[in-house]
Amino acid sequence: MTQKLTYLDHNATTPLKPEAREIMLQMLAFPGNASAIPKFGREARRKIEESRERIAGFINAGPKAVIVFTSGATEANNLVLKGSGCERVLVSAIEHPSVLNALPEKEIIPVLSSGIIDLAALDRMLDGNDRSTLISVMTVNNETGVIQPLDKVVEIAKRRGALVHSDAVQAAGRLPLDLQKLGVDYQTLSAHKIGGPQGAGCLVLSNCVSVTPLLSGGNQEKNLRAGTENLAGIAGFGVAAELAARDIGSYQALAVLRDKIETALKKTAPAIRFFGQEAPRVANTTMFSLPGAASETQLIALDMEGICVSNGSACSSGAVKASHVLKAMGASDAEAGSSLRISLGWNSTEKEVDYFIQKWTEMYNRIKSRLDAA
Ligand code: PMP
Repeated sequence: MTQKLTYLDHNATTPLKPEAREIMLQMLAFPGNASAIPKFGREARRKIEESRERIAGFINAGPKAVIVFTSGATEANNLVLKGSGCERVLVSAIEHPSVLNALPEKEIIPVLSSGIIDLAALDRMLDGNDRSTLISVMTVNNETGVIQPLDKVVEIAKRRGALVHSDAVQAAGRLPLDLQKLGVDYQTLSAHKIGGPQGAGCLVLSNCVSVTPLLSGGNQEKNLRAGTENLAGIAGFGVAAELAARDIGSYQALAVLRDKIETALKKTAPAIRFFGQEAPRVANTTMFSLPGAASETQLIALDMEGICVSNGSACSSGAVKASHVLKAMGASDAEAGSSLRISLGWNSTEKEVDYFIQKWTEMYNRIKSRLDAA
């Protein structure tokens, strides 16, 4: 019999919600191509436009925004960074690799030790700026859960005549999103972080900005993303967005469980350091380091107990590399190399959290004497 998983890695991907799965199964059995004129094509088109409206409602996109469906957030981030047409691109040091690595030429905006972007540095970087400029700052960091002061970034950008892109992948479903109120020019979302499927996402273009497409082909998605739309994925994305908007209160209530973890671990291991604890954070994420206890040691010990956690972003977990996010926050190699991220989600329970605390404590007690000697 397979062991039941205690899944505490929702920032990497969160399980598909049953309602999203249900509509996806219907669409997988549906033969329509949304570009085709006959009945089935028109029905597929209707489903896609229904999803677009659900997502627009979820982020309060407003009547003039354009939502371009993509294969996920990685593609959406590449689309805007490569296609904004701006001469100068500024990205924060803690962005996801799909932003950080999208362009060879970019300038890095530093962050403070709290994990919050250095707004004064951003302002200085734009001093006397006379080139068209794109600033890319994520809404919430995937490793620490720290919420960025996007309203201030937008305020600085508007004063300096720059455009703003925000990767809101880890904010969606965790915080209320209001594109019109916030005033960012481009926003990225991913379905599989809100209970939708992997392989679906979008770039949202607010009023009067555009992008040059990455792909050549048909004229789908208003000529901005060629290729037959992922009907099942988009339908699942739309339903997940609607549910995420409805369930935002219960997501925020996860803070109680997150705080329970932090209090228990700190009591057991006073040397532990939690990252971003002094900054505003989303409710579901905690990242900490226990110098001397390598991330991999902790990961493997927990994995053997059926507990899934992460040592940072999923994309870099395969390669054993210190987290660029923690390094940007001024963490030492020892701290970054002994970090662990716990991220809760829509189906997390207190029982799972208690099981994690118990197993982590047992692991700590096994290695404690080595840590004390180090
Ligand atoms: N941005 C952030 C902040 C993320 O956490 C992720 C997923 N790890 C991505 C972008 C990439 O999303 P996708 O898997 O949809 O390409």
